[in-house]
Amino acid sequence: MKILVINCGSSSLKYQLFDMEHETVLAKGLCERIGIDGSALTHKPAGKDSCVVEKAMPDHKVAVQMVLDMLVDPVHGVISDVSEITAVGHRVVHGGQKYVGSVVVDENVIKAIDECADFAPLHNPANLTGIEACQHAMPGVKHVAVFDTAFHQTMPDKAFMYAIPYDYYDKYGVRKYGFHGTSHAFVSKKAIEMAGLDKDNSKVIVCHIGNGGSCSAVLNGKCVDTSMGLTPLEGLIMGTRSGDIDAGVVQYIANKEGKDVNEVLNILNKKSGLLGLSGISSDFRDVTKASKEGNNQAEIALEAFAYRVAKYVGSYAAAMNGVDAIAFTAGVGENDAPMRQRICKYFGYLGITIDADANDKFRGTEGVISTADSKVKVMVIPTNEELKIAQETLELVQ
Ligand code: ADP
Repeated sequence: MKILVINCGSSSLKYQLFDMEHETVLAKGLCERIGIDGSALTHKPAGKDSCVVEKAMPDHKVAVQMVLDMLVDPVHGVISDVSEITAVGHRVVHGGQKYVGSVVVDENVIKAIDECADFAPLHNPANLTGIEACQHAMPGVKHVAVFDTAFHQTMPDKAFMYAIPYDYYDKYGVRKYGFHGTSHAFVSKKAIEMAGLDKDNSKVIVCHIGNGGSCSAVLNGKCVDTSMGLTPLEGLIMGTRSGDIDAGVVQYIANKEGKDVNEVLNILNKKSGLLGLSGISSDFRDVTKASKEGNNQAEIALEAFAYRVAKYVGSYAAAMNGVDAIAFTAGVGENDAPMRQRICKYFGYLGITIDADANDKFRGTEGVISTADSKVKVMVIPTNEELKIAQETLELVQ
């Protein structure tokens, strides 16, 4: 059975075609600059050369058709007919409080995604455009929406409520939703398997740290807390986001700099985090290089980042009354061994010891980095959100 996974942005469209028999990727690619001059499709078929097609893509419908044409292309294609695709899984950023799991798309689902656009104004409308373009090109197949927020819907109210007037929750749904849910679901499941835990008696903390980052507490396979909030701004220090901050800072900066709330929020989202603190870059590799060369601001940024992750892990160990396994994932979590070491040095009180050689060894590959006698298993687990979307889609259409 073949499943196409689509991740649509406002001017981009990423895709992966899976053969679900062995969960292999047949082809993947990216349409860029949709609706803008200079649009291009980059197509990477497994076992064949990649190719780039530079052709005008005025809208997502044209982009989807180009992707389908490429998938059946006699030279670069990987299937002989579009009818071989059984279903399409779509990444949707925000499902609000309505969706606790993935769903087959129908009119009501489309309406609900549209209604949640207020929470994710940059993403949900783009996700919907992708769904509608694919429905137009492939009317005969089922389309499944897989939400970034769904995995976190099991959080208890004590974890997701903000201590602000209750009316704002009632009237506008102001609460913690969390993001990266597909990754947290995939990685926590894998962590349970790798650590040999009984799912119904397991306490896992996932540290998804990349350019965007979030931690989650997963008790007995269900999310009980996560660090991102109503928006992705809350929680960890990220590439360009501040993460947790005293809300009073917004007013203080606004007054001092003569800015409005939107302008300050833009600074907190785009000019803060590692970039703001280091003054160098949002990329961990650049900041690490600067720190090695003796740049003190870069060193402060890296240590503040590690400290924030460690504080979340500590609070989640408290929330679950213990922890059995901690998993690192995403760009930094998978590849940056020195950063993992920096974070783990805070975990002595949990009886955690790290095997330095193992930590150095696992970069982009899965493995256990704690010593055999460590009280908690610490692991590197590469995330695979596309595969998780394909798995969820398969489950719903089988
Ligand atoms: P996004 O949130 O955009 O999906 P990623 O998960 O791709 O982000 O993570 C990007 C971050 O991962 C960048 O800051 C980058 O520096 C870091 N990163 C990627 N590879 C490495 C590496 N080999 N060593 C250190 N950091 C890395």
